[in-house]
Amino acid sequence: MPDVLVLVDHDGERVHKSTYELLAAARRLGDPAAVVVGAPGTAARLKESLARQGATSVYAAESAEAGEFLVTPAVDALELAVREAPPAAVLVSATTDGREVAARLAARLDSGLLIDAVDLDSSGVVTQIVFGGSYTVRSQVTHGVPVITVRPGAFEPEEHPGEVAERALTLPATDPAASARITARRAAPAGDRPGLTEAAVVVSGGRGVGAADGFKVVEELADALGGAVGASRAAVDAGYYPHQFQVGQTGKSVSPQLYIALGISGAIQHLAGMQTSKTIVAVNKDPEAPILDLADYGVVGDLFAVAPQLTQEVAAR
Ligand code: FAD
Repeated sequence: MPDVLVLVDHDGERVHKSTYELLAAARRLGDPAAVVVGAPGTAARLKESLARQGATSVYAAESAEAGEFLVTPAVDALELAVREAPPAAVLVSATTDGREVAARLAARLDSGLLIDAVDLDSSGVVTQIVFGGSYTVRSQVTHGVPVITVRPGAFEPEEHPGEVAERALTLPATDPAASARITARRAAPAGDRPGLTEAAVVVSGGRGVGAADGFKVVEELADALGGAVGASRAAVDAGYYPHQFQVGQTGKSVSPQLYIALGISGAIQHLAGMQTSKTIVAVNKDPEAPILDLADYGVVGDLFAVAPQLTQEVAAR
């Protein structure tokens, strides 16, 4: 079986769930080879959990400065690995950084790039949702090593323990003039909530929430369900909630088990980021709101009356 390179998302100590999803997707095409980019010792810490989720080899692309620059070390590492042994494909999570890594890699390799895959078959045909969610298309790369970004939540992680081979990649020194250096890190204000793209449950608020204070009901429901909080662009633009939580075409793409939309109308640009969620619940006081056409369960009512009842009901179980 050919290797399929998977770029590992991690925080130095822990592999993000999106990587386990990539490993499950990669197995459809070949043997998943996980590429860990980070400070020395990172790959050794992450190897066991990657092996449990089906990685058959782990590339350690480590250097003291690898964690100090945005995207460039990851692009360098993937390029080295591809040139060393051309894989069947390279899979990267469709996160903000992942999209940039994939685009730069495809340009360097002169390869075709497919973005935001929600499905993938063994012949390399990728299903994508395009034009802000208006169409579903099936595409295949016909030039070079396929570089594919995969929408977080689109694949189920699968445990697949086995032997894992270790390989090392020697990263070139990063050219500071051509790379963005990380100068500070600030913790996201999400507290103990799961990451938006990793969460099994996302509760999002829209303009209907009416004010930053109103997001308390959204947060309370999310916390009762152990979920993440999202927001529509209208809510973000109005200053109700920070931009990093925006869901949609110009925000994050999510595909949780359960997506609850509170006071969100269902504009196509919002749907683009959440319509592949497994179950969608919408609360809206307008029975004509387009989100109710997409929702598996719709409640026509005031979110400030409905959401607290839901929270109470969940907390009582
Ligand atoms: P509205 O459309 O104003 O809807 C508010 C809803 O709340 C209404 O349906 C109303 O009935 C309901 N409501 C009001 N009060 C209550 C209440 N008390 N209880 C229950 N329901 C109530 N949008 C995104 O979300 N994400 C994106 O990434 C994004 N990218 C975009 C990119 C481009 C290029 C463009 C042009 C637009 C983009 N948009 C995006 C904006 C998008 O078109 C919509 O304007 C936005 O999604 C609307 O947000 P909303 O549903 O919260 O607000």
